Amino acid sequence: MSEDLVQLVDEARRTGTIAGLPGLHWIGGRSLPSASGGRMETVDPGTGKAFASVAAGNAPDVDHAIGAARAALSGPWGTMAPAERGRLLARTAALIRANADRLAVAEALDSGKRLVEAKGDVGGAARAFEYYAGACDKFQGSSIPLGPDYVSYTRHEPIGVVAQIVPWNYPISTLVRGLAPALAAGCTVVAKPADQTPLTALMLGEILAGAGLPAGVFNVVTGTGAEVGAPLVAHPGIDHITFTGSVTTGINVMQNAAPNVTRLALELGGKSPVIVLDDADLDAAIEGVLGAIFENSGQICSAGSRLIVERGMHARLVERLVERASALRLGHGLRMVDMGPVNSRAQLERISGFVERARARGAEVLCGGKRIVDPETGLGWFFEPTILDGLAPDDEAVQNEIFGPVLCVQTADTVEQAIALANGTPYALVAGIYTRDLSHAHRIASRLDAGQVYINEFFAGGIETPFGGNRASGFGRAKGLEALASFSKLKCITARL
Ligand code: NAD
Repeated sequence: MSEDLVQLVDEARRTGTIAGLPGLHWIGGRSLPSASGGRMETVDPGTGKAFASVAAGNAPDVDHAIGAARAALSGPWGTMAPAERGRLLARTAALIRANADRLAVAEALDSGKRLVEAKGDVGGAARAFEYYAGACDKFQGSSIPLGPDYVSYTRHEPIGVVAQIVPWNYPISTLVRGLAPALAAGCTVVAKPADQTPLTALMLGEILAGAGLPAGVFNVVTGTGAEVGAPLVAHPGIDHITFTGSVTTGINVMQNAAPNVTRLALELGGKSPVIVLDDADLDAAIEGVLGAIFENSGQICSAGSRLIVERGMHARLVERLVERASALRLGHGLRMVDMGPVNSRAQLERISGFVERARARGAEVLCGGKRIVDPETGLGWFFEPTILDGLAPDDEAVQNEIFGPVLCVQTADTVEQAIALANGTPYALVAGIYTRDLSHAHRIASRLDAGQVYINEFFAGGIETPFGGNRASGFGRAKGLEALASFSKLKCITARL
């Protein structure tokens, strides 16, 4: 840890917060209070105590931010050369790295995640700006051959003002994976962070201004889904919506966007399978399965929340998983622990409800299964790493996203059965396969309904690899060069010579 980071962590542990956190909307390049004067608190999940407050916005603040974003489209941003936009994004990456310690501590306090994970997310945000910095001047159209009497070509034009709605589990990562390509494509953005985790979005406003982003290109309105999210997505001044969140809210967003025929990408939940075949490397599979479900306390849209194991591997794998999961040390994310809290009391109750109902139906609770508190302070919202076995394929715990540290084990007698189980929920976000036979793995991968398939390393890939879901997991692709398509409108120009 750097000296700065040690001091920040020490300050947070002594006082419960860190000095200098932002607390106002970021609109038109300035920090502004809500028109209503409203405020809301944000809570540290590791203690259950409020540690900062931000503006509680509503429709007039949303109007103001969209006005600023529309005006910025015809300001210097609208005529900036793509190479210059690229330099600005590269400066942003450098500034994120320079401010990484503060961003990571703020993110850990706000979301509850472990400091090491928060640092990883902040590093990933810098990397995303770096990646799209290089894309600005390479996002080119094509020339279409119509013969000697015509000239025909395509242009990628910025879609306009983008509304970006972000959940609480990966606040800075999810924001940046939409924001960086939107800026690369020349758009302006109004972001609404989750009510529970508003801080790093506001900090990013100041960082982008420091990198030279013209006022109004990036705006942040904090507040609840009903007061800020709903008027934002229904606003006629929005040209594209990037929504990341639950299926229920996603459907609502789609309905509210329909009257204006606003384009949208929905990145929704998952119930992703990790298939482990009899011939898999056992150690690699153990590491992969544990990380897939217990990273970020299981609050990951792409968590590997279902283990589909071939029968010959079941006993060996499950025994070792139970041993390792039972040994994980839980505690506040700013201490050296293996797993932090879940994000809210409501989330804790939701997880606990799923496990209690599964237990009552006769599920085998192989480890965990209870809510606990931080053993050092007696505070916070924690749930033990939990493994459930003996559930029917149509059990609610197998079919629904629990969004917590709960792994459901399913056993397959054949590879065909494993594929059928993997494809057997309404979700289709990611899938993992562990086997030593790579030809077999690729054949299975082509038959899995998922936006991305990981072979022998769950979560393999990065900002370079496109990410998104099918069916109830949504549509549209984030990350990779594919993400740029969401933020541009293709124009084809054809001339008779
Ligand atoms: P949520 O749907 O409750 O909230 C997501 C965001 O939508 C928040 O900012 C919220 O304030 C806002 N919102 C709420 N009501 C709204 C409305 N009527 N109009 C507009 N915005 C509204 O989800 P959550 O509980 O914050 O996040 C967890 C969910 O997000 C999980 O289902 C998870 O799988 C999903 N998620 C998906 C991805 C992905 O890439 N597919 C990534 C992270 C999280």
